[in-house]
Amino acid sequence: MTTQPEAYDVAIAGQGAAAFAAGMYAARYQIKPIVIGETFGGETAIGGLIENYPGYPEIDGFDLMMKFREPLDTYGVPVVDDKVTSISKHGDCFEIDTEGGQKCLATSIILAVGRERRTLNLEREEEWIGRGVSYCSVCDAPLHRGNTVAVVGGGDSAVKGATLLSKYAEKVYIIYRREAFTRPEPVNLRRLEEASNVEAIFNANVIALEGGDGLEGIALDREHNGASELDVHGIFIEIGADPRVDLARQLGVNLNDIDEIIVDKMGRTNVEGVMAAGDVTDASGDLKQTITAAAQGALAATAAYEWASAHPNACRWHAAVA
Ligand SMILES: Cc1cc2nc3c(=O)[nH]c(=O)nc-3n(C[C@H](O)[C@H](O)[C@H](O)COP(=O)(O)OP(=O)(O)OC[C@H]3O[C@@H](n4cnc5c(N)ncnc54)[C@H](O)[C@@H]3O)c2cc1C
Repeated sequence: MTTQPEAYDVAIAGQGAAAFAAGMYAARYQIKPIVIGETFGGETAIGGLIENYPGYPEIDGFDLMMKFREPLDTYGVPVVDDKVTSISKHGDCFEIDTEGGQKCLATSIILAVGRERRTLNLEREEEWIGRGVSYCSVCDAPLHRGNTVAVVGGGDSAVKGATLLSKYAEKVYIIYRREAFTRPEPVNLRRLEEASNVEAIFNANVIALEGGDGLEGIALDREHNGASELDVHGIFIEIGADPRVDLARQLGVNLNDIDEIIVDKMGRTNVEGVMAAGDVTDASGDLKQTITAAAQGALAATAAYEWASAHPNACRWHAAVA
């Protein structure tokens, strides 16, 4: 006898702020959710100190995500540590497969898979991850006590990262390809400017990584103080991120010109039964934050509840004939 895959009212892909909020709302609507996510807590969990989440004057991002997770445990929502590799639609029922070989069915889907950090695509960049190359200042800053390091980028993550690094490193360069910072939150920019050991290099790009067993220096595409090479033992690449849209593409979900999932105000996509929430969507423009992701998770769960309530037998029939 073959075992039928378990059927849910909503399958939520992700384990960040959007996914956990969606899971909590779905449970409170008394539909049957499952949360399947690759990495606990998403970007918030590695975001360091969070000072702009209401109710918590300051809290470590990891601890905040533990708080997000708590209600799911209370309501008995299954949270599976796995990567969703494919979602296909059969009538009104979705079939979900994971990297770990699990399969389930769901009447509706919430894509809350966030964004992938960009790389510089330089020779030895991948090889030296953990030997000087990092994409997470918050995670690796303490490893650079007394070193000289560089941060690449000009957005909020780069500016926050450089400020944090200034507390550990002896000297921090922040290298940005444009002529001034315009995108960071003013409060973060002010903190950067107050750090006396941070030097900004504008209109410059990193074109090579140098060293032996690990990073020892970087080359720029222009001279700074008479040299185009800088001796650094750490480079923190904070140059933005691309929405993870493989699953959306499989489902025929519409994307905008920067590959964000287009959603309406309830998080519905153009594909019936498929919702999306958080940083993977176009819902909050440039304000991609924990609070906006959480709110979108709540909205998407509401849309999933409405859809699942209107299609109570979608996966029952599918399971019966599978
Ligand atoms: C360094 C840094 C500092 C930040 N600081 C702040 C701050 O101070 N305040 C603030 O409000 N925001 C901050 N942010 C932004 C905030 O972290 C994000 O806006 C928020 O995490 C977005 O939540 P999300 O759930 O949409 O996506 P994410 O948090 O990115 O979560 C995506 C989830 O999807 C999972 N996933 C990906 N692909 C799959 C798949 N195929 N199957 C299953 N799961 C998958 C991931 O593993 C992850 O669990 C910061 C971000 C960074 C990088």
